[in-house]
Amino acid sequence: MAGCNHTTAEPETEGAETYLLVIRLARSCRVTVGRLGTCCFPSGWYLYTGSARGGRLPSRVARHLRSEKRLRWHIDYLLAEPAARIVAVHVTHQAECVLNQALGGNVVQAGFGASDCRVGCGSHLRHFRRRPLVELPRYRVDSSAASS
Ligand SMILES: [Zn+2]
Repeated sequence: MAGCNHTTAEPETEGAETYLLVIRLARSCRVTVGRLGTCCFPSGWYLYTGSARGGRLPSRVARHLRSEKRLRWHIDYLLAEPAARIVAVHVTHQAECVLNQALGGNVVQAGFGASDCRVGCGSHLRHFRRRPLVELPRYRVDSSAASS
């Protein structure tokens, strides 16, 4: 159809290097997060912003979705909680910190996920009482990668 610029590929997600995890925490938790120590996470919703360069985003997202793994990043410790669940993944070409700072929400744990941050985000994990509206392309998760 003339004037229709839909394409079959997913150009808005292809090659994206920044991802956003939408996390539901069913109840408040105290979690020991590596060197950050014991952190208190109120129940509710969280957005976690991360990036994976050089085409590594699919494997990184699959890793986040996998429950069996060595705890390495701060987010791994939170996601290891039975009450925590990733309910959606979004991806974007925006720079990770630009996106993170545009999200709003509250920082509940200073420094969380921001070890590599050079622009003072404070944390790459933001807390919301209600499910935040995310207007970014949904990432289609490869369920075989997630369960392996
Ligand atoms: Zn940042």
